[in-house]
Amino acid sequence: MTDIAALTEAARTAAGATAAADDATRASWLRAIADDLDGAVDELVELAMAETALPDARLRGEVARTTGQLRLFADVLLEGSYLEAVLDSADPAATPPRPDLRRMLRPIGPVAVFAASNFPFAFSVAGGDTASALAVGCPVIVKAHPGHPLTSRRTAELVVAALDRLGAPGGTFALVEGFDEGLALVDSPAIQAVAFTGSLRAGRALLERCVARERPIPFYGELGSLNPVVVTPAADAARGATLAEGLAGSFQLGHGQFCTKPGLVFVPADSTLEDALPDFVGADVPKLLTEAITEGFAAGRSRAVAVPGVEVLAGDRDTATPLVLAADASTLLEHEDVLLEEVFGPATVLVRYRDPAELRTALDHLEGSLTMTLHAEPEDDVDDLVDRMTERAGRVLFSGWPTGVAVGWAQQHGGPWPATTTQFTSVGATAVRRFQRPVVYQDAPEHLLPPALRDGNPLGIPRRVDGRLALPSADGRA
Ligand code: NAP
Repeated sequence: MTDIAALTEAARTAAGATAAADDATRASWLRAIADDLDGAVDELVELAMAETALPDARLRGEVARTTGQLRLFADVLLEGSYLEAVLDSADPAATPPRPDLRRMLRPIGPVAVFAASNFPFAFSVAGGDTASALAVGCPVIVKAHPGHPLTSRRTAELVVAALDRLGAPGGTFALVEGFDEGLALVDSPAIQAVAFTGSLRAGRALLERCVARERPIPFYGELGSLNPVVVTPAADAARGATLAEGLAGSFQLGHGQFCTKPGLVFVPADSTLEDALPDFVGADVPKLLTEAITEGFAAGRSRAVAVPGVEVLAGDRDTATPLVLAADASTLLEHEDVLLEEVFGPATVLVRYRDPAELRTALDHLEGSLTMTLHAEPEDDVDDLVDRMTERAGRVLFSGWPTGVAVGWAQQHGGPWPATTTQFTSVGATAVRRFQRPVVYQDAPEHLLPPALRDGNPLGIPRRVDGRLALPSADGRA
């Protein structure tokens, strides 16, 4: 077994230096990793194709997304608001007298990242969790997913080489493999947070392990999601066939192995969408990412097909073809233990509602999701539907499809349990917030303050000073 104690101790030792490295230095690490991954794209894609059965174009796109993500976090560092610097001036005349308070976010320390199976680059070794933790100055140890070991090892070599070349401290990054190694990482006193993408079952087990430690640590789990979609009668009448084509494209994308796959679609009874959908559903038996996912898909579809009142609209009942099921809203409510369970793979369930009241009752039974989507027409009265969606999802979409998560400053990829274990995001600029801890300095001597909090704003970052947002001036100071 890998010497986890030695690796985590190296990460602990590196943490002081990675935290102290300035933003420009850490940004240069991220950009160097991105450049080297881009430079090795042909080799990486070839390895990943052999291990995952995902096609060339998808994997190339994913490498580009991964390197774009690393560069976005470099921009986040240089922009500076990720530090959330807030200054309150002292006021001795206030009752009670107010001290000088200066608050900012600091890196949390070494982070363990459990790579996902379904994104061999973007949510794996050099994916969003690793990039966002490294960005804010946290050493990272990745637990590789066994679904793509060679891709993981080669990616890790490239990351380590880039960090070494740029002079990052030894121990800033490491890769481990194996179930027991993953557990040992979570138990290590040096590890200060765990980020995870995978199943609800594994996520729950690891969450409980993080809490059960002598010194509990945060666990950021991205678990399962149904990503419900609502189609109003007016939208169905106006463009039911087009919606059917869009839905078919979305739930079969990547053979349904996306956490944002639309798995539950509320349609009016006798919808055009339902009539049109079977024509857009493939008949092939897709090769899924791993044995476990193949078995999970087979078990999940068997359970759903066996529910009384569930019809098979498209796909073969007994083989692993893409599958569309349909049921009335009353059936959904009667069998919610089965029908509200995520089936990871190319399957979706249409739920027929007779009237707005039945739709709203069904929506009230849903748990949290990463996304919820509304297809409506301008004349529809949907305010309360949007309220219900906002309560249950991190991303609410209008007239689109949830697969495809743009990586940007405003993105939110996380939702109420069981979609994620916290309210943070694992995609987009604010993903860094998971690996930062607020500290306020009270009446600190100027020379002992971090540069972000010093008088005159030497870093030239956005800060909130005495309750007002102070943006850097043209010379970079505020
Ligand atoms: P998984 O079974 O959750 O495994 C993910 C990682 O956690 C692997 O590294 C695995 O290690 C580790 N692990 C699993 N159980 C553990 C436990 N009890 N304690 C400690 N570590 C544990 O996910 P998967 O292999 O990717 O796929 C299985 C299912 O996960 C899918 O069928 C799907 O339902 C779900 N999934 C969801 C998403 C999503 O984004 N929502 C993404 C991918 C998968 P070992 O492999 O070494 O055992």
